[in-house]
Amino acid sequence: MKNFKEKFKLKLAENNYKFTRQREIIVETILENENWHFNAEDLFAAVKEKDSEIGMATIYRTLELLEKLDLIHILDFNDDSRVYELYLKDHHHHHLICKGCGKLVEFSDQGIDYFEKELEDKYDFSIDEHKLRFYGYCGDCRDK
Ligand SMILES: [Zn+2]
Ligand SMILES: [Zn+2]
Ligand SMILES: [Zn+2]
Repeated sequence: MKNFKEKFKLKLAENNYKFTRQREIIVETILENENWHFNAEDLFAAVKEKDSEIGMATIYRTLELLEKLDLIHILDFNDDSRVYELYLKDHHHHHLICKGCGKLVEFSDQGIDYFEKELEDKYDFSIDEHKLRFYGYCGDCRDK
């Protein structure tokens, strides 16, 4: 995870952004919660415990920046609240998303990688990424 912070610093520099204390605190907070799926409010609450000076506007701006630098991804499954996660190449996975309670299940996908290869051959197309989401209802919601 230390690598991630270095990568963040590097990307900031490349794009002429400063590595500020506030940006550092925000990124550290995201890194502390491994495999975290969070929205801006979650992040704000966690960051506030470390530095009460950081406001919601800074959180939004920083999330926008992180997304632009390709360090986090939006899992845009909820209309009124964007959910984010770190974009880690070595933690490639997909999501099952419950439409009832918003629960998120991660899974990985050898079959899909195979399918990707098939598509490449069939359509003479070089694929370098894919995003997959499956929507439905989790066990708890179905029992209700
Ligand atoms: Zn559910
Ligand atoms: Zn995830
Ligand atoms: Zn995949």
